[in-house]
Amino acid sequence: MARVFVAGSFNVDHVWRVATLPAPGATLSGSYATGPGGKGFNQAIAARRAGADTRFVCALGDDAGAQLARALCDADGIDLQAANAGAPTGTAGIYVDAQGRNCIVIGAGANAALEPGFVAAALRGITARDVVLTQLESPLDAVAHALDLGRAAGAIVLLNPAPANVAIDETMLVRADLLTPNETEFAALLLRHVGERIDADAVGNLDQQRLHALCRELLPHGSVVVTLGASGCFVSHADAALRGDTGSCYRMSAEPAQAIDTTGAGDAFNGALAASLAQRPQHAFIEHIRFAGRYAARSTEQAGAALAMPYLAVD
Ligand code: ADP
Repeated sequence: MARVFVAGSFNVDHVWRVATLPAPGATLSGSYATGPGGKGFNQAIAARRAGADTRFVCALGDDAGAQLARALCDADGIDLQAANAGAPTGTAGIYVDAQGRNCIVIGAGANAALEPGFVAAALRGITARDVVLTQLESPLDAVAHALDLGRAAGAIVLLNPAPANVAIDETMLVRADLLTPNETEFAALLLRHVGERIDADAVGNLDQQRLHALCRELLPHGSVVVTLGASGCFVSHADAALRGDTGSCYRMSAEPAQAIDTTGAGDAFNGALAASLAQRPQHAFIEHIRFAGRYAARSTEQAGAALAMPYLAVD
């Protein structure tokens, strides 16, 4: 069976709900919760719960966070390949105020120690039927190597260019078959690579031809899926690679959802897209997008990110 290889981050999230965000020197009281996170792990859980045979490649410390990662991967049947980093497992400290605004500090910890050599060993045996999915919360040389190894094997390689504040150069973009920015990430990529300044909030209102033209400039050889939150997504293909679709660009509206927490919706979408591509290679791309949208919509109906990923396999 085809596999999804996710190379990326694992964090332990520490979340404090407070009335107001702390000012320098302040001591506040708040309610605390902890749980697993990291874009890599969130996407691996989504791919697995969407039915794909999934391998998660990451770096962990030698601590309680690593034990949590192992236990969760065991529970969901994820094939965990974790480098032992000699640094604490990644953490995120998150304050959320009464209006839902947040302040986040990420301690990359072990995630910063994921090395290309470890990725190469963990991706051994990859075939043309498999899918590689990676993001930008890991060292860029390891990310690039995952994409290169996937490409060399003939697998589909998917780059989720998140978070938006990580700058990548042209050489990273050309490695990807599929790029999946949200509006903020798309605006950041356009500014850096196309020289266009477009407000993230305005992306969803651009007309289809303009969006398509921008996507073509960004990734001439590949497909771009811009996710637009509750407005769904926009898909743009190169004319030479329509991936089974009949048109080179289209919008897909979101599935209706009783959304209570959209944290991790993008991760749900990416994991599910990779899972669908791996399990149903004969389907047109639009069917994979439809499934990813359905999966992501369901993920918004529960609080949290990784553990809110629904068990919803492709049919
Ligand atoms: P991110 O979490 O990276 O910001 P988006 O907010 O663009 O990503 O969401 C990714 C996908 O999740 C969207 O393309 C859409 O399919 C789905 N989604 C997000 N918010 C909602 C919502 N309120 N209702 C239904 N689907 C949603």
